[in-house]
Amino acid sequence: MLEEELLNLQAHEQLRSLRVFSPEPGPYAAKDGAKLLLFCGNDYLGLSQHPRMIEAVRSAALRYGVGAGASRLISGTSDLHARTEARLAALKKKPRALLFSSGYAANLGILSSLAGKEDLIVMDKLCHASLIDGARFSGAHLRIFPHLGYDRLEKILKAASKFRRKIIVTDSVFSMDGDLADLKKLAAIKKRYGAWLIVDDAHGTGILGERGAGAGEAAGVESEIDVLMGTTSKALGCLGGFAAAEAPIIDSLINHARSFIYSTAIPAILCAAIDEALNILSEEPRLRMKLWANVGALYQGLVAQGWIQGQALSPIFPLVVGDGARALQLARKLEKQGVWAPAIRPPTVPRGKARLRITVSALHEFEDIKKLLQILQNLRKDYQTH
Ligand SMILES: *Cc1c(COP(=O)(O)O)cnc(C)c1O
Repeated sequence: MLEEELLNLQAHEQLRSLRVFSPEPGPYAAKDGAKLLLFCGNDYLGLSQHPRMIEAVRSAALRYGVGAGASRLISGTSDLHARTEARLAALKKKPRALLFSSGYAANLGILSSLAGKEDLIVMDKLCHASLIDGARFSGAHLRIFPHLGYDRLEKILKAASKFRRKIIVTDSVFSMDGDLADLKKLAAIKKRYGAWLIVDDAHGTGILGERGAGAGEAAGVESEIDVLMGTTSKALGCLGGFAAAEAPIIDSLINHARSFIYSTAIPAILCAAIDEALNILSEEPRLRMKLWANVGALYQGLVAQGWIQGQALSPIFPLVVGDGARALQLARKLEKQGVWAPAIRPPTVPRGKARLRITVSALHEFEDIKKLLQILQNLRKDYQTH
């Protein structure tokens, strides 16, 4: 029975339900009548509410309407789609790019088009669910290596000569831990074993690297990565996912990616917004500087309080507290004091590793970070696991 199954989830503190937020200007939203300071989400530069983005959508809607009306291969590809894809390709220093309606759809399409029964996909244990689903959908053999365990990855590749294609898959910034893959090392390993490298740069696109092009730029290995997947739903403040790669790969996706072919095109108004986001990226570098200043301030505070150990820097901070119930309780205590950060529980993270997932953005002021740190200071004795 469905009801029983749901009750069972509830009994194990695993039931999820939707919460309703009314956005307010800045890093705020109202929930159940209370105004909350948000430390969640992935709108790292605050572009989702940037006046230039809103204006870009407004003026594009007057000319292009709201919906695309058809899939990309029918009549859903507008001049705005073509322009945005060319700009995303340039951002990633690849000849071509292809937009999907979401990052989830992009990963499903990329892995299921480029891998099949004769192939081996080797994936980091903490890769995003969309990559796992894409690998399963592809029908390829799937092996998992421990998180950042590249010695093990090499062992797997060494014994994989019988496969047509060997494909290494990783997130660049891991979405629930905020740590980074070593793309330099992976590029070397890929070369050594004649494998392909696919990098999901959902959280790096827009914030990492000198131009904000992402983790490939930051590590200086863009040309070694076969497929750079990115999202336009996070730091770019819109919706959508994309693949940037050489022409034969993009043409394969156009011909084989079912999540691309059998789905209505992403609306042109969003292409206009993505285009404006790319303009803002190059014209307002202060947003990236503000973000990284905030990351640094929060990082220092959390290390000083003992919540996290020294780790690679990203805007994602996991405060690991143990089981799901404890994480929920901690989130509720923050909410009572006017701050919202979500509890992340199994199965999204491993059992015993439930956490508060704090993210910071360019919309935060130092005062906001100070407020969060003050609240956490008073809770640390009860919740820290080490
Ligand atoms: C968010 C995310 C996705 C999915 O992107 P959407 O645009 O939200 O569908 C894929 N991979 C990673 C690592 C993500 O964090």
